[in-house]
Amino acid sequence: MLNIILMGPPGAGKGTIAKKIVDAFELPHISTGDMFREAISQGTPLGLQAKAIIEAGNLVPDELTIELVKERLLKDDCASGYLLDGFPRTIPQAEALKALGPSIGRPVNLVVDITVPDEELLSRIAGRRVCPKCGASFHVVNMKPRLDGICDRCGSTLIQRKDDNADSFKVRLENYYKSTQPLVDFYKAEGLYHHFDGMVGHIALFEEVSKLLKESK
Ligand code: ADP
Ligand code: ZN
Repeated sequence: MLNIILMGPPGAGKGTIAKKIVDAFELPHISTGDMFREAISQGTPLGLQAKAIIEAGNLVPDELTIELVKERLLKDDCASGYLLDGFPRTIPQAEALKALGPSIGRPVNLVVDITVPDEELLSRIAGRRVCPKCGASFHVVNMKPRLDGICDRCGSTLIQRKDDNADSFKVRLENYYKSTQPLVDFYKAEGLYHHFDGMVGHIALFEEVSKLLKESK
């Protein structure tokens, strides 16, 4: 069973590798960032609460985020594995998941952490363009779409995320070091932690991660 957490700083390439993993291993992709963006674009009550917080680069309150993930993990499609992308991001979220997972027979059994040096993160974020429809990510220099400004997967017009600017990025990175990095020790203590270097390029990275997932299946 693959019940995976994917973690790493903003811009490390979580979304890109997540898409490859879920396609190859046939897992539901649970991206809290995508779920919040979807709620914002649909104007749901959750979206209205989260919009300003996310655009400024801050973390959505734990209670809201935990509730969202809880509902999602209970769905049938998570019975034979899942990939959590962007959750947990705080110790209280990790504690909540540690209580929930086993109680529903779906405990996390693998944590994949991808790291990239800070200097590289900002240039990845600044050049990132995303598909508002299918969530695919591109980069204006490093990972160009086949046609400028058009999603390779679904043909939609690419956009720049509102939180992909220098000010919000700074806040996101500070929050990452303050709130999310402590999860490394948390998951090392659980014996679930695996580290990968996000600088090797997305093809090599996917090969390395795939190897671990095949061994753990
Ligand atoms: P990135 O990893 O590039 O920062 P995500 O798409 O994962 O982007 O998340 C975008 C934003 O959504 C975050 O900056 C935060 O505001 C909110 N968010 C996503 N996941 C969580 C979470 N687990 N807890 C709190 N806020 C979250
Ligand atoms: Zn698309």
